[in-house]
Amino acid sequence: MKLVNKDRKRPEDAERLQALEPVICYNPARIENYNFSIYEDGRKVMKKTNSMVVSPRSAGCLDVKAGQFFRVKSLEGSQVGDLNLWNRHNLAETFYSGKTRALHGTHVSTKDRLWSSLPAMRPMATITHDTLDWYGFDSFGGSVHDIIGTRCDPYTNNLISGGDHYHFCCHSNLTRALAHHCDLDIPSAESYIHDVLNVFMCTGFTRDTGQYFMKESPVKPGDYLEFFAEIDLIVGLSACPGGNCASSHSSDKADCYPLEIEVFSTNLDKLNGWKKASKNKYDQSHGVGG
Ligand SMILES: [Zn+2]
Repeated sequence: MKLVNKDRKRPEDAERLQALEPVICYNPARIENYNFSIYEDGRKVMKKTNSMVVSPRSAGCLDVKAGQFFRVKSLEGSQVGDLNLWNRHNLAETFYSGKTRALHGTHVSTKDRLWSSLPAMRPMATITHDTLDWYGFDSFGGSVHDIIGTRCDPYTNNLISGGDHYHFCCHSNLTRALAHHCDLDIPSAESYIHDVLNVFMCTGFTRDTGQYFMKESPVKPGDYLEFFAEIDLIVGLSACPGGNCASSHSSDKADCYPLEIEVFSTNLDKLNGWKKASKNKYDQSHGVGG
C-alpha cells in the first residue's frame, strides 16, 4: 500500500508537477474507429442456438463461432462470473485484460472491445449490450464488469489464509473446465488460464491508498452482458465462490448461484461489411534485420 513519505524532501517543482492535468494515454477516437451500428442490426435478427448453465463454484467452456453473439446471464440470484476467452484454434492467444484496461478503462460496457494477447492483439469480442449500464461509477469509484482484478486463485488464498487448500477458486474452476473441454492434462490447462473480465462484479480502487476493493454486485436475475465474437472463440466462465462478492471469496461461505452462457446466431448479411478480426499488422522484427 502506497503512503506518502513525509520525511522525503520534495523537489522545488513538486506543486507544479502534481497540479498538471492528466493526459489520456490512448486516443479513444482511434480505438473506437469502427461501425457499432452493424451489431445493432445483427442483434435485431439473432436467434438463440445454444446455451450452457454453469453451476455455482464451477466453470464451463463453450465454443462460440466468429459472427455469433453470446451472453453471460444471471439466473437465480446475485452472482459474479469470471470470464476467460481463447482463440479456438490457438489457446496461446488469450484475452489480454491489461491492454484492454489501458485502451478502454478499468471497467467495460457497451461498445468496448476485449483485446487479445500479443502478437495477435486484435479484438476477440465486442460488448453489444449491458443491462447494468445504469450503474456508472459510484461515490467510492466502484463500478461493474472490471478488468482490474485477476481471478480468485488457490495460491493467493493459501498465502492469505496461512495454508488453506481451497479447490474451487475461479482459477481452479477454469482450469478443470478447459482441461475437460480441450482434453488437456491439468498442468497444461492451467498454463492457459489468464486474468479475467469480472462480469457483474462491483470493484474499484480506494481513492486514498489505491487498494483493490469489492462491493455487493448490483446484478439481479435476468441481467446480462452481451458480446459479439470477432474470431472463433472458446468462452470459459466460472461462477465465483464469492457469490455476489459482498464480503468474501475463495471459500464456501457465500451464497452462490448458477450463471448461463447463451449463444445466438444472426444473419451475417445484416452486418454490413463485417469481417473476422485479423491479426495486428506489426511485422514482429523488433528492430532486427530488414
Ligand atoms: Zn472468483
